[in-house]
Amino acid sequence: MRIKTRLIHGGIDGDPHTGAVSVPIYQVSTYKQEAIGVHKGFEYSRTGNPTRHALETYIAEIEGGARGFAFGSGMAALSTILSLFNKGDHLVVGDDVYGGTYRVVTRVFSRMGLEASYVDTSNLEAVEAAIRPETKAILMETPTNPLLKVSDIRALADIAKAKGVLLIVDNTFMTPYWQNPLDLGADIVFHSATKYLGGHSDVVAGLVVAKDAKIGEDLHFVQNAIGGILGPQDSWLLLRGMKTLGIRMEEHEQNARTLAKWLSERSDIKRVIYPGLPDHPGHELIQKQARGFGGMISFDVGSAERADEVLAKVKYYTLAESLGAVESLISVPARMTHASIPAERRAELGITDGLVRISVGIEDVQDLIEDLDQALS
Ligand SMILES: *Cc1c(COP(=O)(O)O)cnc(C)c1O
Repeated sequence: MRIKTRLIHGGIDGDPHTGAVSVPIYQVSTYKQEAIGVHKGFEYSRTGNPTRHALETYIAEIEGGARGFAFGSGMAALSTILSLFNKGDHLVVGDDVYGGTYRVVTRVFSRMGLEASYVDTSNLEAVEAAIRPETKAILMETPTNPLLKVSDIRALADIAKAKGVLLIVDNTFMTPYWQNPLDLGADIVFHSATKYLGGHSDVVAGLVVAKDAKIGEDLHFVQNAIGGILGPQDSWLLLRGMKTLGIRMEEHEQNARTLAKWLSERSDIKRVIYPGLPDHPGHELIQKQARGFGGMISFDVGSAERADEVLAKVKYYTLAESLGAVESLISVPARMTHASIPAERRAELGITDGLVRISVGIEDVQDLIEDLDQALS
């Protein structure tokens, strides 16, 4: 089955009890037992719920892993993964991971004795050099936000294998439609399903897939022990949203490519960052490990004042954090998602005051171009 077909027919197709084509919302907390311990596979909905189970089976199949898990947010998903580790363990973490990832590692798990070093994961020597005897995992994203830096998943998986550590990949930006880290050697993949997987700005959720059954077993233990699960309503919404992931991602990408090319031909834009452009440093690499370039673009309009002007004038781009929805979203990372990073560090990274990020939606691209044109003029 190819990915577009798998997105429609993967996992548990419909309801075995009634024949309902859509998996029903099992709004239930507990299940009747025939005798003590004799049940139909469900005992209590923290441990397992049929709607969530359908979603978990589905994402495991889509990402090509042994077992999937659904959580109340991307951060709950990551926190559960991090709870696999012990006091004194050490992680190598990408130096420009999602802000919430950085926050939970440095301000929550650090208090429980989990240590971390931050390195540029596109620099393989730096990653290798950062691995210590206590290192248990490499945690990375590719491409990153908002500079869309690309890291080599297969090469990092090889390093991880050689050193006996896990490779954990946040696949939120590419989605399983374009990129499957487990096939490239990663051990755990996770998503903020709030973004492209849900795709309609209506649900906050996180998904995790383990490559092998043993890690799957450990993750299920921690998921059930901590309890940060996704409810049945939201599990159903995600199942519904993901059916159209294929056609949405094709449209997001087509629009992003057109918009990036149009922006790169303008003399009043300082820099356009999109992995689909031939001058992007990760352009070759991303084509080796992914089937597409995604729907996120960043560009520098020159100054904070001009960025303000553009954001005030656009009509079809909603000023908001988040990404990956059908509607185009626009933001200024330096003053929004990355405001907590000190100014000098932002400058070092290249997150300038005039940098604008667009999560390109699936509107008619001609309208998106005309709107941006009037806002830039
Ligand atoms: C949004 C996001 C997260 C966090 O997910 P939530 O669903 O908001 O908890 C993690 N990683 C990336 C790359 C994200 O964009």
